[in-house]
Amino acid sequence: MACSSRSWNVAIQSEEQLSKVFESVSKAGGCINLRGSGASYGDANINTNQIVVDCTPMNEIESWDPETGLIRVQAGVTVEQVWRHVIADGYWPPVVSGTMTPTIAGALAMNIHGKNCYAAGTLGEHVVALRVLVPSGDVIECGPDKNGDFFRAVIGSYGMLGCILSATLRLKPIQTGQVEVTAYRTPNLAQMFDVFAKNVEQPYLVGWIDAFAKGDGAGRGIVHVARHLRADEVSNAAATLQPSAQELPGRLFGILPKSWMWRLLKPFSNRAGMRLINAVKYRSCSGRAEGKTHRESLGAFNFLLDFVPNWRFVYRPGGFIQHQSFVPADHAQEVFTQTLALARQYGMPPYLAVFKRHRTDAFLLSHGVDGYSLALDFAINNRSRGRIIDLTSEIDQLVVSAGGRFYPAKDATLHAEDYRRSLPDHSYTSFKTLKAQTDPHNILQSDLYRRLFQGGPMNPGILQDG
Ligand SMILES: Cc1cc2nc3c(=O)[nH]c(=O)nc-3n(C[C@H](O)[C@H](O)[C@H](O)COP(=O)(O)OP(=O)(O)OC[C@H]3O[C@@H](n4cnc5c(N)ncnc54)[C@H](O)[C@@H]3O)c2cc1C
Repeated sequence: MACSSRSWNVAIQSEEQLSKVFESVSKAGGCINLRGSGASYGDANINTNQIVVDCTPMNEIESWDPETGLIRVQAGVTVEQVWRHVIADGYWPPVVSGTMTPTIAGALAMNIHGKNCYAAGTLGEHVVALRVLVPSGDVIECGPDKNGDFFRAVIGSYGMLGCILSATLRLKPIQTGQVEVTAYRTPNLAQMFDVFAKNVEQPYLVGWIDAFAKGDGAGRGIVHVARHLRADEVSNAAATLQPSAQELPGRLFGILPKSWMWRLLKPFSNRAGMRLINAVKYRSCSGRAEGKTHRESLGAFNFLLDFVPNWRFVYRPGGFIQHQSFVPADHAQEVFTQTLALARQYGMPPYLAVFKRHRTDAFLLSHGVDGYSLALDFAINNRSRGRIIDLTSEIDQLVVSAGGRFYPAKDATLHAEDYRRSLPDHSYTSFKTLKAQTDPHNILQSDLYRRLFQGGPMNPGILQDG
């Protein structure tokens, strides 16, 4: 990640402490950004030269009921804490991101999606109740049927309306801790769309794209389709539900400590190296029309990047940005074909490209569309620094023209006017009105908020040497 800043950090343990911080800042001036695990890729969790409130010490699981599948957690409880707590009872979080490190409040502030985003929607759709402290000092209790407008606004509002103190989520019952995964090799983007269309009713569906490929093979990749295994399909269902059965292997090929993996990848962290890695990965998948099937633990399937500790060091020293655009189904193939071509024309093919199917949801600042998303990792180095903004800006024009949306958890370069154009007018104005009501002194701010809502600057890490 290329964004960084200096700020004053305050760790909070309780609602009372946070109320006092809100009160002091109201009197003294300045602004606060809330922070969870810091897993957002861009500038959502930073607040240059201002205050950052670390919510991770509020990390208790307040209640868990295996009868109903309802869990109530404090803001700083992580996705990892949740699954470890419930799996032996036969439950799993309904939506998880590609890493288990996010806090539940941070995940709801961005309204995360998983590899099951078409089937299960976003995490916010599985929330039963929230307690939110707003800067005036009031605590608002809300849920789909209680203060519903505020509920649908606060989820996905990037922490700008109030601090989520606790959340009650409905978890998903599972019979085993394993999924059956079928991998399909898709020789171009059109075939990737075909495989997605054929498997759209499957619980999990995710595509990886070799963004270096061109010509007839442009957009080639691998699609993974997965479903939960039933108890009668595995030899010892109870054993697969033990947290230990979800641990990611500690060694590569049983020999090298996984902490070494980023060092092994580092020499390939350039265009030639990544072209090679992408080509090898593509060819390593032998499943074509009929697909190739294997079994994996839920942990290994969902949290692949956690398998490579410090994977982001591969991008040192400049770091990287991620850009994820969401495009309605009718235009997605055309927009993503042009996006990949643009990246090649700029000489900056993304080192990693991930493709997903999405659906709409009822949240105010939703990034959900009935369509597809493409997430791209761009390395920031001497070749790309500065020019990356021209590239992402061109991509953003394609997305906005197609009626698409952006995901601020994975954005660092979107301009305020393009963000505004991507949202329905009523969403943008309702959010501004609600912000003025709940936070009249604009105490809650982040670098992302200033960039997207006030035309503030991009992080210097993208523009110049850090
Ligand atoms: C390897 C990796 C894979 C990922 N995969 C996915 C994926 O598959 N799908 C996906 O959707 N995302 C994915 N993400 C992004 C990540 O899930 C989100 O950015 C998530 O919001 C991070 O949570 P966090 O606790 O780290 O929050 P932070 O990044 O610290 O903060 C995120 C936002 O939450 C706000 N916030 C924090 N605490 C509170 C609070 N108590 N109340 C209100 N607002 C608060 C912050 O102000 C900020 O705006 C991935 C990230 C990584 C690093």
